[in-house]
Amino acid sequence: MALCSKCGKREAIVYQKHTGMKLCKNCLFEDVKQRILEQVKKYDMILPEDRILIGISGGKDSYVLLRFLPEIHPSSRLFGLMIEEGIKGYNRAETFSFVKSSCHELGIDCVITSIKEVLKYSVDEFMSLQIKRCNSIKISACTFCGIARRRILNVYARSHGMNKVATGHNLDDEVQTYLINILRGDIMRLIQLHPLSIVHSPLLVKRIKPLRTIYEYETAFIAYMEGFRFQETECPYIVERPTLRTKIRELIKEIERIDPSAQLKFLNEVDKALEPLVKMRNMDSVNLPRCSQCGEPTAPGRNICKFCELIDNVLNIQY
Ligand SMILES: [Zn+2]
Ligand SMILES: [Zn+2]
Repeated sequence: MALCSKCGKREAIVYQKHTGMKLCKNCLFEDVKQRILEQVKKYDMILPEDRILIGISGGKDSYVLLRFLPEIHPSSRLFGLMIEEGIKGYNRAETFSFVKSSCHELGIDCVITSIKEVLKYSVDEFMSLQIKRCNSIKISACTFCGIARRRILNVYARSHGMNKVATGHNLDDEVQTYLINILRGDIMRLIQLHPLSIVHSPLLVKRIKPLRTIYEYETAFIAYMEGFRFQETECPYIVERPTLRTKIRELIKEIERIDPSAQLKFLNEVDKALEPLVKMRNMDSVNLPRCSQCGEPTAPGRNICKFCELIDNVLNIQY
Protein backbone atom coordinates (compact mmCIF):
# COMPACT_ATOMS: atom_id res chain seq x y z
CA MET A 1 0.00 0.00 0.00
CA ALA A 2 1.01 3.62 -0.53
CA LEU A 3 2.49 6.03 1.99
CA CYS A 4 0.26 7.95 4.44
CA SER A 5 -1.36 11.03 2.81
CA LYS A 6 -0.83 13.05 6.01
CA CYS A 7 2.73 12.40 7.22
CA GLY A 8 4.11 10.95 3.99
CA LYS A 9 6.49 8.82 6.09
CA ARG A 10 4.75 5.69 7.25
CA GLU A 11 2.83 3.10 5.31
CA ALA A 12 -0.90 3.81 4.99
CA ILE A 13 -3.12 1.12 6.48
CA VAL A 14 -6.61 2.57 6.19
CA TYR A 15 -8.57 4.48 3.57
CA GLN A 16 -10.59 7.19 5.27
CA LYS A 17 -13.53 7.42 2.91
CA HIS A 18 -14.97 10.76 4.10
CA THR A 19 -11.67 12.62 3.54
CA GLY A 20 -10.34 10.54 0.66
CA MET A 21 -7.03 10.13 2.56
CA LYS A 22 -4.95 7.03 3.10
CA LEU A 23 -3.67 7.09 6.68
CA CYS A 24 -1.04 5.30 8.75
CA LYS A 25 -1.92 4.01 12.22
CA ASN A 26 -0.44 7.05 14.02
CA CYS A 27 -2.20 9.60 11.84
CA LEU A 28 -5.54 7.77 12.11
CA PHE A 29 -5.31 7.64 15.93
CA GLU A 30 -4.32 11.32 16.07
CA ASP A 31 -7.16 12.30 13.72
CA VAL A 32 -9.73 10.38 15.80
CA LYS A 33 -8.40 11.92 19.02
CA GLN A 34 -8.66 15.43 17.54
CA ARG A 35 -12.25 14.80 16.37
CA ILE A 36 -13.20 13.54 19.83
CA LEU A 37 -11.58 16.62 21.40
CA GLU A 38 -13.37 18.91 18.97
CA GLN A 39 -16.80 17.57 20.01
CA VAL A 40 -15.86 17.57 23.69
CA LYS A 41 -14.81 21.23 23.51
CA LYS A 42 -17.59 22.38 21.20
CA TYR A 43 -20.26 21.15 23.59
CA ASP A 44 -18.37 21.37 26.92
CA MET A 45 -18.92 17.63 27.33
CA ILE A 46 -16.09 17.19 29.84
CA LEU A 47 -15.00 19.69 32.50
CA PRO A 48 -11.77 19.25 34.50
CA GLU A 49 -13.49 18.27 37.76
CA ASP A 50 -15.89 15.74 36.16
CA ARG A 51 -16.10 12.21 37.49
CA ILE A 52 -17.18 10.09 34.56
CA LEU A 53 -18.75 6.64 34.44
CA ILE A 54 -18.06 4.80 31.17
CA GLY A 55 -20.77 2.36 30.10
CA ILE A 56 -19.02 -0.74 28.74
CA SER A 57 -20.96 -3.24 26.67
CA GLY A 58 -18.12 -5.53 25.66
CA GLY A 59 -18.32 -4.29 22.07
CA LYS A 60 -15.68 -2.41 20.05
CA ASP A 61 -17.17 1.08 20.50
CA SER A 62 -17.04 1.20 24.28
CA TYR A 63 -13.57 -0.33 24.07
CA VAL A 64 -12.41 2.57 21.84
CA LEU A 65 -14.02 5.07 24.23
CA LEU A 66 -12.11 3.47 27.08
CA ARG A 67 -8.88 3.67 25.07
CA PHE A 68 -9.22 7.39 24.16
CA LEU A 69 -10.82 9.01 27.23
CA PRO A 70 -7.66 8.77 29.41
CA GLU A 71 -5.87 10.88 26.77
CA ILE A 72 -8.21 13.79 27.42
CA HIS A 73 -9.23 13.31 31.07
CA PRO A 74 -7.30 11.97 34.11
CA SER A 75 -7.90 8.24 34.49
CA SER A 76 -8.34 8.71 38.25
CA ARG A 77 -11.63 10.44 37.45
CA LEU A 78 -12.81 7.74 35.01
CA PHE A 79 -14.68 4.59 36.05
CA GLY A 80 -15.88 1.66 33.96
CA LEU A 81 -19.12 -0.25 34.42
CA MET A 82 -19.54 -3.41 32.36
CA ILE A 83 -23.11 -4.59 32.00
CA GLU A 84 -23.91 -8.12 30.98
CA GLU A 85 -27.27 -8.27 29.23
CA GLY A 86 -27.93 -11.96 29.79
CA ILE A 87 -28.39 -12.99 26.15
CA LYS A 88 -27.46 -16.58 25.41
CA GLY A 89 -24.67 -16.87 22.85
CA TYR A 90 -23.98 -13.13 22.87
CA ASN A 91 -22.16 -12.27 26.10
CA ARG A 92 -18.63 -13.60 26.09
CA ALA A 93 -16.63 -13.99 29.25
CA GLU A 94 -13.33 -13.56 27.37
CA THR A 95 -14.37 -10.14 26.05
CA PHE A 96 -15.07 -8.93 29.57
CA SER A 97 -11.74 -10.24 30.86
CA PHE A 98 -9.92 -8.50 27.97
CA VAL A 99 -11.71 -5.23 28.79
CA LYS A 100 -10.93 -5.68 32.46
CA SER A 101 -7.21 -6.05 31.83
CA SER A 102 -7.28 -3.05 29.46
CA CYS A 103 -8.88 -0.97 32.23
CA HIS A 104 -6.11 -2.09 34.54
CA GLU A 105 -3.42 -1.02 32.04
CA LEU A 106 -5.11 2.34 31.53
CA GLY A 107 -5.45 2.92 35.28
CA ILE A 108 -9.25 2.93 35.21
CA ASP A 109 -11.24 1.27 38.00
CA CYS A 110 -13.94 -0.96 36.64
CA VAL A 111 -16.63 -3.31 37.87
CA ILE A 112 -18.93 -5.79 36.21
CA THR A 113 -22.64 -6.15 36.80
CA SER A 114 -25.60 -7.62 34.96
CA ILE A 115 -29.14 -6.57 34.10
CA LYS A 116 -30.37 -9.57 36.10
CA GLU A 117 -28.33 -8.70 39.17
CA VAL A 118 -29.71 -5.17 39.34
CA LEU A 119 -33.19 -5.48 37.87
CA LYS A 120 -34.12 -9.11 38.61
CA TYR A 121 -34.60 -10.18 34.96
CA SER A 122 -32.02 -10.81 32.26
CA VAL A 123 -32.98 -9.92 28.67
CA ASP A 124 -33.59 -13.62 27.92
CA GLU A 125 -35.77 -14.02 31.02
CA PHE A 126 -37.77 -10.90 30.25
CA MET A 127 -38.47 -12.15 26.72
CA SER A 128 -39.48 -15.67 27.70
CA LEU A 129 -41.71 -14.42 30.55
CA GLN A 130 -43.35 -12.00 28.16
CA ILE A 131 -44.15 -14.75 25.65
CA LYS A 132 -45.53 -16.93 28.46
CA ARG A 133 -47.79 -14.20 29.89
CA CYS A 134 -48.83 -12.36 26.73
CA ASN A 135 -48.51 -15.03 24.04
CA SER A 136 -46.82 -12.42 21.89
CA ILE A 137 -43.94 -9.96 21.84
CA LYS A 138 -45.24 -6.49 22.70
CA ILE A 139 -41.93 -5.09 23.85
CA SER A 140 -38.81 -5.86 21.81
CA ALA A 141 -35.65 -7.11 23.46
CA CYS A 142 -33.87 -3.95 22.24
CA THR A 143 -36.38 -1.70 24.01
CA PHE A 144 -36.06 -3.59 27.29
CA CYS A 145 -32.28 -3.83 27.03
CA GLY A 146 -31.89 -0.12 26.21
CA ILE A 147 -34.11 1.05 29.06
CA ALA A 148 -32.48 -1.36 31.51
CA ARG A 149 -28.92 -0.29 30.59
CA ARG A 150 -29.79 3.40 30.88
CA ARG A 151 -31.37 2.82 34.27
CA ILE A 152 -28.39 0.86 35.62
CA LEU A 153 -25.82 3.42 34.40
CA ASN A 154 -27.78 6.34 35.81
CA VAL A 155 -28.38 4.82 39.23
CA TYR A 156 -24.80 3.56 39.52
CA ALA A 157 -23.27 6.92 38.56
CA ARG A 158 -25.57 8.85 40.91
CA SER A 159 -24.98 6.59 43.89
CA HIS A 160 -21.19 6.60 43.38
CA GLY A 161 -20.80 10.37 43.07
CA MET A 162 -20.19 10.55 39.33
CA ASN A 163 -21.65 13.48 37.41
CA LYS A 164 -21.43 12.21 33.82
CA VAL A 165 -22.15 8.96 32.02
CA ALA A 166 -20.17 8.40 28.81
CA THR A 167 -21.31 5.88 26.21
CA GLY A 168 -19.60 4.59 23.06
CA HIS A 169 -22.28 5.63 20.53
CA ASN A 170 -20.54 6.30 17.21
CA LEU A 171 -21.50 8.46 14.22
CA ASP A 172 -23.52 5.70 12.56
CA ASP A 173 -25.54 5.13 15.77
CA GLU A 174 -26.22 8.84 16.19
CA VAL A 175 -27.33 9.37 12.59
CA GLN A 176 -29.65 6.35 12.81
CA THR A 177 -31.20 7.63 16.05
CA TYR A 178 -31.69 11.13 14.63
CA LEU A 179 -33.34 9.64 11.51
CA ILE A 180 -35.62 7.33 13.51
CA ASN A 181 -36.89 10.24 15.58
CA ILE A 182 -37.27 12.51 12.54
CA LEU A 183 -39.39 9.79 10.90
CA ARG A 184 -41.48 9.52 14.06
CA GLY A 185 -41.77 13.29 14.29
CA ASP A 186 -40.57 13.12 17.90
CA ILE A 187 -39.17 16.63 18.42
CA MET A 188 -38.81 16.24 22.20
CA ARG A 189 -36.63 13.19 21.78
CA LEU A 190 -34.53 14.97 19.12
CA ILE A 191 -33.93 17.83 21.54
CA GLN A 192 -32.90 15.40 24.29
CA LEU A 193 -30.41 13.73 21.94
CA HIS A 194 -28.57 16.98 21.23
CA PRO A 195 -25.27 17.26 23.13
CA LEU A 196 -26.20 20.70 24.55
CA SER A 197 -29.42 19.42 26.09
CA ILE A 198 -29.42 19.63 29.89
CA VAL A 199 -31.13 17.23 32.28
CA HIS A 200 -34.19 18.45 34.13
CA SER A 201 -33.87 16.40 37.30
CA PRO A 202 -31.25 16.19 40.05
CA LEU A 203 -31.71 12.41 39.86
CA LEU A 204 -30.60 12.18 36.24
CA VAL A 205 -26.90 12.13 35.42
CA LYS A 206 -25.89 13.96 32.22
CA ARG A 207 -25.00 11.58 29.37
CA ILE A 208 -22.20 12.30 26.91
CA LYS A 209 -21.19 10.63 23.64
CA PRO A 210 -17.60 11.62 22.81
CA LEU A 211 -17.44 9.29 19.76
CA ARG A 212 -20.45 10.82 18.01
CA THR A 213 -18.43 11.98 14.98
CA ILE A 214 -16.33 8.81 14.64
CA TYR A 215 -17.46 6.35 11.98
CA GLU A 216 -18.26 2.79 12.93
CA TYR A 217 -15.63 1.45 10.51
CA GLU A 218 -13.06 3.62 12.28
CA THR A 219 -13.90 2.30 15.76
CA ALA A 220 -13.82 -1.24 14.35
CA PHE A 221 -10.41 -0.61 12.82
CA ILE A 222 -8.92 1.00 15.94
CA ALA A 223 -10.27 -1.73 18.20
CA TYR A 224 -8.68 -4.34 15.93
CA MET A 225 -5.35 -2.48 15.84
CA GLU A 226 -5.37 -2.38 19.63
CA GLY A 227 -5.72 -6.14 19.89
CA PHE A 228 -9.47 -6.32 20.40
CA ARG A 229 -9.90 -9.64 18.59
CA PHE A 230 -13.54 -10.46 19.17
CA GLN A 231 -15.84 -11.18 16.35
CA GLU A 232 -18.68 -8.72 16.40
CA THR A 233 -21.57 -11.13 16.39
CA GLU A 234 -24.92 -9.52 15.78
CA CYS A 235 -27.27 -9.74 18.75
CA PRO A 236 -29.57 -12.77 18.16
CA TYR A 237 -32.68 -10.67 18.85
CA ILE A 238 -31.84 -8.28 15.99
CA VAL A 239 -31.25 -11.13 13.57
CA GLU A 240 -34.58 -12.63 14.60
CA ARG A 241 -36.60 -9.43 14.33
CA PRO A 242 -35.07 -6.65 12.24
CA THR A 243 -35.91 -3.24 13.60
CA LEU A 244 -36.43 0.08 11.87
CA ARG A 245 -32.83 0.82 12.83
CA THR A 246 -31.54 -2.12 10.76
CA LYS A 247 -33.47 -0.92 7.73
CA ILE A 248 -32.18 2.64 8.14
CA ARG A 249 -28.63 1.30 8.40
CA GLU A 250 -29.02 -0.36 5.01
CA LEU A 251 -30.43 2.82 3.49
CA ILE A 252 -27.51 4.90 4.81
CA LYS A 253 -25.04 2.44 3.30
CA GLU A 254 -26.64 3.07 -0.11
CA ILE A 255 -26.47 6.85 0.34
CA GLU A 256 -22.82 6.74 1.43
CA ARG A 257 -21.94 4.90 -1.73
CA ILE A 258 -22.79 8.13 -3.58
CA ASP A 259 -21.58 10.60 -0.91
CA PRO A 260 -19.07 9.08 1.58
CA SER A 261 -19.36 12.02 3.99
CA ALA A 262 -23.18 12.10 4.03
CA GLN A 263 -23.44 11.02 7.68
CA LEU A 264 -21.05 13.66 9.01
CA LYS A 265 -22.83 16.41 7.08
CA PHE A 266 -26.24 15.17 8.24
CA LEU A 267 -25.17 15.11 11.91
CA ASN A 268 -23.70 18.62 11.71
CA GLU A 269 -26.75 20.04 9.96
CA VAL A 270 -29.25 18.48 12.38
CA ASP A 271 -27.11 19.58 15.35
CA LYS A 272 -27.18 23.15 14.02
CA ALA A 273 -30.90 23.14 13.23
CA LEU A 274 -31.79 21.83 16.69
CA GLU A 275 -29.53 24.18 18.66
CA PRO A 276 -31.98 27.11 19.08
CA LEU A 277 -34.75 24.69 20.17
CA VAL A 278 -32.39 23.02 22.66
CA LYS A 279 -31.39 26.39 24.15
CA MET A 280 -35.04 27.37 24.52
CA ARG A 281 -35.90 24.07 26.18
CA ASN A 282 -32.87 24.36 28.51
CA MET A 283 -34.35 27.56 29.96
CA ASP A 284 -37.53 25.75 31.05
CA SER A 285 -37.49 25.19 34.77
CA VAL A 286 -39.55 21.98 34.59
CA ASN A 287 -38.51 19.39 37.07
CA LEU A 288 -39.28 15.86 35.95
CA PRO A 289 -41.87 14.00 38.03
CA ARG A 290 -40.91 10.85 39.93
CA CYS A 291 -42.28 7.40 39.21
CA SER A 292 -44.90 6.43 41.80
CA GLN A 293 -43.50 2.89 41.97
CA CYS A 294 -39.71 3.12 41.95
CA GLY A 295 -39.08 6.82 42.62
CA GLU A 296 -36.86 7.32 39.57
CA PRO A 297 -37.51 10.32 37.31
CA THR A 298 -39.99 9.90 34.48
CA ALA A 299 -41.22 11.98 31.52
CA PRO A 300 -43.48 15.02 32.13
CA GLY A 301 -47.13 14.04 32.55
CA ARG A 302 -46.31 10.43 33.43
CA ASN A 303 -47.09 8.78 36.74
CA ILE A 304 -45.00 5.66 36.24
CA CYS A 305 -41.64 5.31 34.51
CA LYS A 306 -40.94 3.36 31.31
CA PHE A 307 -39.12 0.62 33.17
CA CYS A 308 -41.91 -0.02 35.70
CA GLU A 309 -44.40 0.09 32.85
CA LEU A 310 -42.53 -2.70 31.06
CA ILE A 311 -42.28 -4.87 34.12
CA ASP A 312 -45.67 -4.12 35.64
CA ASN A 313 -47.98 -3.76 32.66
CA VAL A 314 -46.39 -6.29 30.37
CA LEU A 315 -45.62 -9.02 32.86
CA ASN A 316 -48.11 -8.13 35.61
CA ILE A 317 -45.29 -8.31 38.10
CA GLN A 318 -44.85 -5.75 40.82
CA TYR A 319 -41.25 -4.58 40.68
ZN1 LIG B 1 0.83 9.19 8.78
ZN1 LIG C 1 -40.51 3.30 37.98
